[in-house]
Amino acid sequence: MNRARASLALSAALALLAGCNAHDSTPTTMKTSAPPPTQPTAAVAKTDDEWRAQLTPEQYQVLRKAGTERPFGKVYEEFKQQGGGTYFCAGCGAELFSSDHKFDSHCGWPSFYDPANAKNVRTLEDHSFGSVRIEVRCAVCDGHLGHVFKGEGFKTPTDQRYCINGVALKFVPKEKAKP
Ligand code: FE
Repeated sequence: MNRARASLALSAALALLAGCNAHDSTPTTMKTSAPPPTQPTAAVAKTDDEWRAQLTPEQYQVLRKAGTERPFGKVYEEFKQQGGGTYFCAGCGAELFSSDHKFDSHCGWPSFYDPANAKNVRTLEDHSFGSVRIEVRCAVCDGHLGHVFKGEGFKTPTDQRYCINGVALKFVPKEKAKP
């Protein structure tokens, strides 16, 4: 098993371990409404009750409880078929990723090789499950997005894989060019 495959297998196993209630939840599709959400101008802080009221149960579990959605789910299939556009935080609407940087890592979760707007993404060490991983969070609302893995051998400009839960994202397609 090469390094990339081993890493993918490990992340899948860890995701299953961290699966929380994702398996029991009704899959939540990415919203594709337009126009893009208004960008927050300051840190977004809400009470637990407010987050519960705003988010679906699966989004709440991922964004606020660092859960992991089931791999290869409906949201992942939607992600693979989405064209050009921008991915915003499903919690606060901050711009996070661009379709320009998505790639198919075959890992079962939306993957990007570079954040579109680095100031809205922050990383920190995650020591859960006996390993050290780099967690990715929204810098505006501190919502958990996923993890980033480096040096796996993907033929992308950064060889980084931002492995992101699809339910934590809101996709807004690019406006069709006017004739
Ligand atoms: Fe956010």
